[in-house]
Amino acid sequence: NSVPTITLNDGHTIPQLGFGVFKVDPAETTRIVRDALEVGYRHIDTAAIYGNEEGVGAALAESGVARDDLFITTKLWNDRQGTESAFAAFEESLEKLGLDYVDMYLIHWPAPANDKFVESWKALEKIRESGRARSIGVSNFLVPHLERLLGETDIVPVVNQIELHPAHQQREVTEFSREHGVHIEAWGPLGQGKYPLFDELVVADAAQEHGKSPAQVVIRWHLQTGNILFPKSNRRERMIENFDVFDFELSSTEVAMISSLERAGRVSAHPNDVN
Ligand code: NAD
Repeated sequence: NSVPTITLNDGHTIPQLGFGVFKVDPAETTRIVRDALEVGYRHIDTAAIYGNEEGVGAALAESGVARDDLFITTKLWNDRQGTESAFAAFEESLEKLGLDYVDMYLIHWPAPANDKFVESWKALEKIRESGRARSIGVSNFLVPHLERLLGETDIVPVVNQIELHPAHQQREVTEFSREHGVHIEAWGPLGQGKYPLFDELVVADAAQEHGKSPAQVVIRWHLQTGNILFPKSNRRERMIENFDVFDFELSSTEVAMISSLERAGRVSAHPNDVN
């Protein structure tokens, strides 16, 4: 009944279920991440743009959890893409987190209009060589962005972190990523509350069948379809609920029925429009 780990294409392992802190108020972050660590989460997903790396770092420091047992991801924001600016941004993130390395560093968005993601990736390759980011990956990359990266740089990203939930499965980029050994991290795994996944009959039925909540069913769907995910909640009881998903399994029919919910389109911005 513990969190499975996934082996990335560089040999490092990542807990498949973690905790995300997008929109977690910086003033509340330490309390919230402290709660998450107490509940049992060991994988935390933050980003420079969330403005809460210091709060995450404070919670990690006071927790007493061994550094080896943690998996910490942060991300390079768009306006710091480039070579020197990426190095500087990375230093700032490490400093704020109070860490001497992160487990994973991601390019947050391709920002194709700026045309700096290839150059930035080469900077991340150097950061990885330095050992201060154990793994490097990308976020919100579509197939053309991945094709360019694979064609023009040396290291294959370990993950592509994309918006993904049963109503928006991004099959094209997911398949392309997996074919190249890039694991999928699903952001907005519960539809961010913007898409009413929990009201879908197939989700509600499966929840009733297993005596679990709709959120737990959606989390199981992600786990069983191979996604890495880190649902977010400020509330401790939901952190517990979202972590309590290892005592049941969806049938292959239930997984297929939930996969058939594909329809909504993205609930957030298109990657080509975020700069
Ligand atoms: P999410 O799908 O995890 O939804 C979070 C919301 O769902 C919560 O605010 C809460 O309202 C609700 N919720 C959570 N648990 C629930 C439960 N058990 N029952 C009912 N409602 C529940 O969306 P998210 O936070 O946007 O995504 C998760 C993480 O992904 C983020 O925290 C962040 O780390 C990452 N993320 C990355 C990007 C990116 O561009 N790379 C973008 C958005 C999010």
